[in-house]
Amino acid sequence: MKQDSPQRLTEEKPAAGRSVPVLVPMPAERPYSYAVPGDMCVEPGSIVRVPLGPRQVAGIVWDGECEAIDPRKLRPISHVFDCPPIDADMRRFIDWIAAYTLSPPGMVARMILRAPEAFDPEPWVEGLQATGAGPDRLTAARTRVLELAANGMAWTRSGLSHAAGVSSTVIDGLKAQGVFETVMIPPRPVVAAPDPAYASAELTGDQEEAARMLRDSVAADRFAVTLLDGVTGSGKTEVYFEAVAAALEEGRQVLILLPEIALTQAFLERFQDRFGTKPAEWHSDVAPRKRERVWRQVAEGGVRVVAGARSALFLPFKELGLIVVDEEHDPAYKQEDRVFYNARDMAVVRGHIGGFPVVLASATPSVESRVNASQGRYARAVLHARFAEAALPSIRAVDMRRSPPARGGFLSPMLLSHMRETLERSEQSLLFLNRRGYAPLTLCRVCGHRFQCPSCSSWLVEHRFRGQLQCHHCGHAEKRPEACPECGTLDHLVACGPGVERIAEEVVGQFPDARTIVLSSDILGGVKRLRLELEAIANGEADIVIGTQLVAKGHNFPNMTLVGVVDADLGLANGDPRAAERTFQLLSQVTGRAGRTGKKSLGLLQTFQPDHPVMRAIVSGDAEAFYEREIDERQKAGLPPFGRLAGIIVSAATRAEAEGHARGLRRAAPPANDIHILGPAEAPLALIAGRHRFRLLVQGERAADMQAYLRRLLATGPKIRGSVRVQVDVDPQSF
Ligand code: ADP
Ligand code: ZN
Repeated sequence: MKQDSPQRLTEEKPAAGRSVPVLVPMPAERPYSYAVPGDMCVEPGSIVRVPLGPRQVAGIVWDGECEAIDPRKLRPISHVFDCPPIDADMRRFIDWIAAYTLSPPGMVARMILRAPEAFDPEPWVEGLQATGAGPDRLTAARTRVLELAANGMAWTRSGLSHAAGVSSTVIDGLKAQGVFETVMIPPRPVVAAPDPAYASAELTGDQEEAARMLRDSVAADRFAVTLLDGVTGSGKTEVYFEAVAAALEEGRQVLILLPEIALTQAFLERFQDRFGTKPAEWHSDVAPRKRERVWRQVAEGGVRVVAGARSALFLPFKELGLIVVDEEHDPAYKQEDRVFYNARDMAVVRGHIGGFPVVLASATPSVESRVNASQGRYARAVLHARFAEAALPSIRAVDMRRSPPARGGFLSPMLLSHMRETLERSEQSLLFLNRRGYAPLTLCRVCGHRFQCPSCSSWLVEHRFRGQLQCHHCGHAEKRPEACPECGTLDHLVACGPGVERIAEEVVGQFPDARTIVLSSDILGGVKRLRLELEAIANGEADIVIGTQLVAKGHNFPNMTLVGVVDADLGLANGDPRAAERTFQLLSQVTGRAGRTGKKSLGLLQTFQPDHPVMRAIVSGDAEAFYEREIDERQKAGLPPFGRLAGIIVSAATRAEAEGHARGLRRAAPPANDIHILGPAEAPLALIAGRHRFRLLVQGERAADMQAYLRRLLATGPKIRGSVRVQVDVDPQSF
């Protein structure tokens, strides 16, 4: 039975003829005005349905006054949902993000309104409850049913038959005899309430000190950011669970952000071990119906802890009191689609608006967070060593100039011999290469033809398992031909360079009896299959794992004692000022997969630049040296966080249009003392999915008002015409 949704009842009936601003999920700069029918009650934050052109859309009643429009010309609000209103903090958060990222507020609001079925209350369902009457005779099956129902609890018919292990006709029979009656039961919580005292860990000295800092910041109940900085395996999760427990004790809700939540199922189990129940999950792989129930129960306060991807920041928490951002340095926190935002930074903003603490955890913090900590804006809690007996792996660079692989191979004799020894000890090896597919480039040995994507400026990547050549930027895929399309020669196409599939081929050739698994995000079977494979690896059901960055993060593989990085230089080549930081983080994380349980472990970096500062920092384990140097260089160059940056990407169907518009913007740039513009230049990827891209970089001093400048620039620049599109990326990931 679906309940009617009664309209919200408030004390005051609005005067007839009232109108309110409503923010609709559209790229509109301002809320639109709507008339409020005389018998309808709305307040700022109410979720409503309004007509928009020929459609009906959900929107949020906004703050402030309507534009001066004759109320008789306004269209009326169609419906008010029976749903807790979006609170003032969340509305300020939306406005803040819109202003900071230069996005239309409606597009930010859209991220909140992503669970349309949740705006109406969840329906109650029909259930059965024991009346106290006895059945005409008892059977074993009936006894099991009656035992379950004896405490007066109401069950659904299917739930009861399932729990008792009887066919539902048994239950129908009992109902016919009056043993059960029909009752309505409220929606089931998506997760049970976590118990902060369920099973607390005994913390080490370092951990206890860090946990005390976090608990104190929760108790202080005001905005503060703590950077929880500790090597992989030092117990950061254990420590921030103490902050979660403290917030739960205060009656507050908690949000834990994780970069790859869909793949970190082990995290949910650890949470359950500590709090007696799993947290509610929020990410794109949660089924729509489930997402809607989570949304609703977060809004009503029934869900106390959410573990989610970056989009969980836009859940309408009723009483949020703590956000933890785990792996705060992770590039996955940056959304580069429609609204360009970094969830780590926005979590800090959300804490500031809500007046509650935020914890940023990482073994390899971002340079930004390290600087914030050293300048006193953030507190810093440090865990110095791995927990218990576990020692960090020792790390060595393999100089590929001196120890080259055999012809046609990519693995050095040194790495192969360590893999052999690891196999003999029945321990696991991980080979890491951040490149999907078989080979990043295919060319014809006869005429030199290279296979390029027809709509991007990138080479096609061969995927041999699928027999395809694929573009990793637009998804274009074609069958790998036998003959060269240019000169027609048969069987002379060669693969250049390795991807994980090609490394797997080499490994199988070298170790035919080893159990080998290849893991990359394009694995057949999707997330479900990936989860199973990760579990299998953790359970020791593989000897050699070959994977892309998705195996680098957060996983705990107890028997893994060797990590080989096939091409440690890969990320350093692209000329981006953030390349060193990213490579340092990725190499630390991936080598950190080894040696989780006290066995001796080793990380080998295959490199042509063993003297590069990043390699030296990783090999010596001297992270401080790396950060000092990196921070110093950023400071000298005025790069973030010592200066501000924004990218303006101009794209269009033709190169001339894109370049013309970008040049027009550059010419229109208003002069400023503390801001200057670089470019336009072709964007790092000059052509994606048939769109040509040019980029301007706007660089400013730390104190510069970047947003005001960008707004002026876009307003004075040329009108956007034809196929031109302009996207602003404040605080770009790569620059
Ligand atoms: P990090 O998040 O820093 O990588 P974890 O919190 O995952 O570290 O801890 C690494 C391992 O050590 C986990 O298996 C965890 O259960 C264990 N561990 C850490 N601290 C403790 C503790 N105080 N008591 C028991 N086990 C701990
Ligand atoms: Zn493409």
